[in-house]
Amino acid sequence: IIQVQHLGKEFGSHSVLRDIDFSVHPQDVTSIIGPSGSGKSTLLRCINMLEIPSTGAILYHGTDITDRRVNVESYRAKVGMVFQNFNLFNNKTVLGNCMVGQMRVLKKSKEEAHRKAIFYLEKVGMAEYINAKPRQLSGGQKQRVAIARALAMEPEVLLFDEPTSALDPQMVGEVLQVMRQLVEEGLTMIIVTHEMAFARDVSKHVIFMTDGVIEEQGTPQDIFENPSNERTKEFLSRFR
Ligand code: ATP
Ligand code: MG
Repeated sequence: IIQVQHLGKEFGSHSVLRDIDFSVHPQDVTSIIGPSGSGKSTLLRCINMLEIPSTGAILYHGTDITDRRVNVESYRAKVGMVFQNFNLFNNKTVLGNCMVGQMRVLKKSKEEAHRKAIFYLEKVGMAEYINAKPRQLSGGQKQRVAIARALAMEPEVLLFDEPTSALDPQMVGEVLQVMRQLVEEGLTMIIVTHEMAFARDVSKHVIFMTDGVIEEQGTPQDIFENPSNERTKEFLSRFR
């Protein structure tokens, strides 16, 4: 579905991503791991066109989405994103958060948007909270609403940037549980995470990044059991 080709990103003279190459196939779960500052968020933000790549291409079904003629809003409806800090609309209710994109971007009727919002809020166990405002929710609940909002757009691919990193430890499990369910349903996902056990369990493909490059990529077995790269070994040893 997605092919990242020779992707590079510079902020001024600072090169943050260099020659990033990988492909995502339908129903793949791809995890991106690596130390802080290695460029993981910037890579996801490029794939979502929140940052404009400096070089290279990102093909979505063969179309380079960095092309100026591509409608970024409709692309983002197909390739959605879930953020570390939820990015919910604080002045809207849970229900409103899950309806607005469907109506504005997908031009769904209010009734249809409402129906889908409820369906996905039920899926993440948040249907009881439709009238709550984000500030009334715990971190884990906010993140589950953010996931329902993303799902309500019925994307083909969902990107997750450290979805559990801002959560208190006791709330990490409920969010990982929802994500595990999406994996089982066959949703195509790219996940930046520090949850190594989770990445090992659910991934088809694991990418290890340092300093803006892919040091090593392969199956969870390759990366977690038999890393060939010294930096991968050193990084993983911190999680044992
Ligand atoms: P973390 O695990 O801490 O989230 P990361 O792997 O997601 O780290 P990025 O946030 O992608 O790393 O940052 C990679 C590098 O790019 C860092 O050196 C960062 O300072 C730099 N960077 C990111 N965004 C910008 C920006 N908008 N302008 C300038 N530099 C940036
Ligand atoms: Mg990051």
